[in-house]
Amino acid sequence: MEGGCGCGRLRYRVEGAPLIVHACHCTWCQRETGTVHALNALYEADHVVHTAGEPEIVYTPSASGRGQLIARCPACKVAIWSNYAQAGPAVRFVRVGTLDTPGRCPPDIHIYTSTKLPWVVLPPGAKAVAEFYDVAAVWPAGSRDRVRAMRQRLREQAAAPDPADPGS
Ligand SMILES: [Zn+2]
Repeated sequence: MEGGCGCGRLRYRVEGAPLIVHACHCTWCQRETGTVHALNALYEADHVVHTAGEPEIVYTPSASGRGQLIARCPACKVAIWSNYAQAGPAVRFVRVGTLDTPGRCPPDIHIYTSTKLPWVVLPPGAKAVAEFYDVAAVWPAGSRDRVRAMRQRLREQAAAPDPADPGS
């Protein structure tokens, strides 16, 4: 699937299926999106490929107090993905509304429904939790392995000598 910002300077591709898709009804997401909930498709960092332009990374306060890093178009400032402190750099939370085909990423779970706005009615049978959830119990089979493999790739990158620095 492909996506991009509002002005078209920033384009990206996501590879494969998301790890999971969250509809987040927390008040922080409501404020950041200006609407009733955020919709984030979680992907391994290297499965989100920038095909045109590079985002600017903006530090934004978050409910945990540890902040999130939001990747925005440097021109039109639309947010395309973010990193949260808990999941770290291995997982990018892609803003589903920026995909060209957002209908292909329906939410797997609604989170922080304790602050869901009262006129938002979830479909019957939708998975929903008042706050957060136990990842081991909720994530699709294989998603935790995918993140574990991504963290390993990041460790290997960090340990690899920098080819631009002959002294390393
Ligand atoms: Zn833009």
